[in-house]
Order: sequence, then structure tokens, then C-alpha cells
Amino acid sequence: MAAQTVGVLALQGAFDAHAASFREVGVKARQIRRVADLDGLGGLMIPGGESSTLLNLMADEPWFDGLRRFHDQGGVLAGTCAGAILLSREVRPQQPSLGLLDAVIERNAFGRQVDSFEAPVDAPALGGAVEGVFIRAPRFQALWPEVDVLGRLGDEPVLVRQGRVVAATFHPELTRGLAFHRYVADLARTTQGARSTPRSNRPRTQPTP
Ligand code: GLN
Repeated sequence: MAAQTVGVLALQGAFDAHAASFREVGVKARQIRRVADLDGLGGLMIPGGESSTLLNLMADEPWFDGLRRFHDQGGVLAGTCAGAILLSREVRPQQPSLGLLDAVIERNAFGRQVDSFEAPVDAPALGGAVEGVFIRAPRFQALWPEVDVLGRLGDEPVLVRQGRVVAATFHPELTRGLAFHRYVADLARTTQGARSTPRSNRPRTQPTP
């Protein structure tokens, strides 16, 4: 497998910007429009957009099976915003998701008044503060103990990792910073072929009602 090649799911959303960021960190990036295109990739980025629209577009092909298999076989999956929603275990309001990240996530959770905003994310794992662009952003309501918080906005987790799954509720691809893409690319290079870790059912924090 060419682990240095990453894919960007190119069904909807800011996939061009992600591909450009990967190329800037010296990684080959391919736009992925078919399940069969996942072959040979070390990692896949699922971009932001609108998760319900993305789900509709994914109905044409067995994407859920294909992405779960990709993960099982050692591929890294990263998601930003709508991508993070798709990766999570439980979505509020309820909608189908891959369930590869043990998190409860709520869509559009910052309310209409603060539809979009920019704020620094404190992310020591990425080398310090990164610029965060939040657009109709979701919010993690609960994280299982296996999930590591890599970045926070105030107290709030906004960048998390569980094994080979990385999820951000903001849009790193819309800023000039490359730390997020470098991190994902490094992960795709170093964890290739790793086996899935067992997942538990115990929530770290109870979801708020
Ligand atoms: N609000 C979108 C959703 O629920 C996500 C927004 C985004 O990806 N910028 O899918």
C-alpha cells in the first residue's frame, strides 16, 4: 500500500481545500468519488459540508461498508465538521453515522446567532494554538474513555482522536495553518496496518438531555 497517498472524499464540501493542504505538506492527495478508489490509500479525509446531504450522496454506493472495511484494514479516517458527524457513534438529532468514533455529537450546536466564527483552538498535539473556523459547527456532547482530546476551544473538546480516527468540529482546511493536515498525514504513514483497538460502551461524560 502507498501509505503516503491520502484521499479526500470528493462528493460534497471543501474537498479541494483539503487536497491543497495535503499537497502543501508534501503528501499525494487524490479525490475519491467511488468506494473502489479507497484501494491503496493510507488515509481518507471526510470534509465538512452538510452531513445530511453527504449521506444522500453516499446512498449510491456501499460507502458505509467500504469505509468501515478501510478502517478495519488499517486506514486512517479523518473528518472535519460534517465529516466528524459522520464518523461519530451517535448523532443528535438522530441520523445514520459510521460509528467509528465513540462520541455523541450534536449538529449545529452553536445556535443561529453564532452561525460561524473564528477562534483559536488550543491544540498541544499540533504544536500549539491553531486557527479554528467554525461554520454551523457541531459539538461533542460525550466522549468515551478511548477518545483523546487533542484540541479545545475554551474547555470544550473540538479536536479528538481515537486510534486511527481523527475528528475536528472546525475547518482547518480554510486556514493557512498546516498542522492538522501534517498530523493526519503522519498518522496515515505510521499506523498503516495497525489493528483495530477494542471499543468499550462506557461514556466518559453523560450526554446532557
Ligand atoms: N451543520 C453541518 C451538518 O450538520 C456541518 C457544517 C459544516 O460541515 N460546516 O452537517
